[in-house]
Amino acid sequence: MSDTAAQYAKPLPEPSAVSAPFWEGLKAGELRLQRCAACSRYVFYPRSVCPHCLSDRLEWQTVSGRGRVYSYTIVRRAMNPAFAQEVPYIFAIVELEEGPRVTTNLVNCAPEGARVDMPVKAAYDSVTSEIALLKFEPE
Ligand SMILES: [Zn+2]
Repeated sequence: MSDTAAQYAKPLPEPSAVSAPFWEGLKAGELRLQRCAACSRYVFYPRSVCPHCLSDRLEWQTVSGRGRVYSYTIVRRAMNPAFAQEVPYIFAIVELEEGPRVTTNLVNCAPEGARVDMPVKAAYDSVTSEIALLKFEPE
C-alpha cells in the first residue's frame, strides 16, 4: 500500500479507451492482457492492432501474473525528484509466462537479491483510489 491520492507525488498513468481494461484489472488485483483471436499470441502494452499479425481482433484475458526477471538494474540516483525517496529500487523487465515483457519495479526484494531469471509474481500497488500499478515480487 502507498500514499493517499493527495500525497502521491509521482507520475500517474492516464488510462485511455484502449488501455482501460488493463488498469481496471490492476485495480481489481488481476493482470489482464490482450490476446489476439487471429494468431493466439498475447500482446502488451495494450493497443488496437496485433503487433504480430496486424489483426484488430484483440480480446482481454486474465492471466497468471507469473513470470521471470528478464533483466534489471538497481536505481541508486533518481532522475526525477519525485522518486528520490525510493532509491535504491529495482527497475526490471519481467517476461510473463504468456510471453510479453513488461517494464516494472521489483518490490519486496532487496536490491542485492535480484537475479536474472528469478521467478516473480504480480504485485498490485494501489497508489490512489483510482490507480493501481503493476509491480512484481519474488514468487
Ligand atoms: Zn495476431
